[in-house]
Amino acid sequence: MTYSQIILNKGKEFSLLRFHPWVFSGAIAKKDQYLKEGDIVEVYSNKLEFLGMGYYAGGSIAVRIISFKKTIIDENFWFEKINKAYQYRIQLNILNENTNVCRLFFGEGDGAPGLILDYYDGHVVFQAHSWGVYIQKENISNAIIRVLGTELKSIYDKSSETISKHFTEKTKNGFLFGSIETEDVLVIENNHVFKIDFINGQKTGFFIDQRDNRKLLGKYCKNKSVLNTFSYTGGFSVYASKSGANTVDSVDVSQGAINLCEENIKINDVHNHQCFVEDTFEFLKDKKNSYDVIILDPPAFAKSRDSKHNAVTAYKRLNATAIKLIKKNGIIFTFSCSGVIDKMLFYNTITAAAIEAGRNIKILHYLYQPADHPVTPYFSEGEYLKGMVLWVE
Ligand code: SAH
Repeated sequence: MTYSQIILNKGKEFSLLRFHPWVFSGAIAKKDQYLKEGDIVEVYSNKLEFLGMGYYAGGSIAVRIISFKKTIIDENFWFEKINKAYQYRIQLNILNENTNVCRLFFGEGDGAPGLILDYYDGHVVFQAHSWGVYIQKENISNAIIRVLGTELKSIYDKSSETISKHFTEKTKNGFLFGSIETEDVLVIENNHVFKIDFINGQKTGFFIDQRDNRKLLGKYCKNKSVLNTFSYTGGFSVYASKSGANTVDSVDVSQGAINLCEENIKINDVHNHQCFVEDTFEFLKDKKNSYDVIILDPPAFAKSRDSKHNAVTAYKRLNATAIKLIKKNGIIFTFSCSGVIDKMLFYNTITAAAIEAGRNIKILHYLYQPADHPVTPYFSEGEYLKGMVLWVE
């Protein structure tokens, strides 16, 4: 098998030698003029040393590396990659008798930019974030079948929302293997039951990345009044209710999200819960001294560097409001899932919010994404979820 070759400008090999998996278009000295989006290419330094292989794209990130060794990109290649990711999760006991939902493959963190696989008790949701991944779909799906064997129930392709607009017309969401026999896929996360609607739900249906943080929340909820803002499927709400909260209120601006939340509350058989379809900022206006514990897990306020400033303002406003109104000795779980807001900026923003609110605060925990969303030292951009737990006097 021969692949097209790309030669970099002098001095542009260093990031690849440090295992950073992106090649920017400006780094390229020479490439085949007939290269198509998604083609597999070999990348060489100006001195013609082999650096890596990956998929080519026309944008500012021209190549996304999937191997730093010369190899053949076929079903076996994907089998090795996905199996390694699966075995890592097994070794870390992420999938166990209490949890059958996890992120099975996390893009660069698992060595293949743009590939997301989420695992819901044998159902796998495949999400390609680039055309290069998408055209490997058949190899990837055959590899998943081999990795999971009889454990596999279905593979659902949900790439049409994540692939670049250019290619949306060429993709259609649907099953690549098996199907869902009934409408309901139920999973357990730390023994809490969740109904997953990966076909119609946001992203792949569930925010798997908050598993460890939800578990930690449980420790702080006994006999407390808890408010879960931006609640989506009610992940934090279910944990709070099950761990003995007096009352739990969930707020989300989307009726669809609240419907899912209500179903999850019902499945878990808890009776101390209320839902509100409302904008969080509006909801908080008249809630002074109403809650002991508040969760702030908003959607990514900043999706690009351009919106960073507005996002910081929004995080500050949200956190300052919550800090001002929470009851004495209250606990706030606050998060940002914006990749462009790094952890220092997030902590500085929370500090600014605390100063504005003028209350005494202690930081109980710094929180991150869990091990099934691996961050590597070679690709710090992969670290997107950060949070803090605050105690407010
Ligand atoms: N904490 C959730 C995930 C949050 S996703 C979990 O653990 O699963 C973000 C949610 O915020 C979405 O459900 C979206 O509908 C909701 N949302 C977005 N803007 C909002 C606003 N201004 N007020 C309330 N909810 C909002």
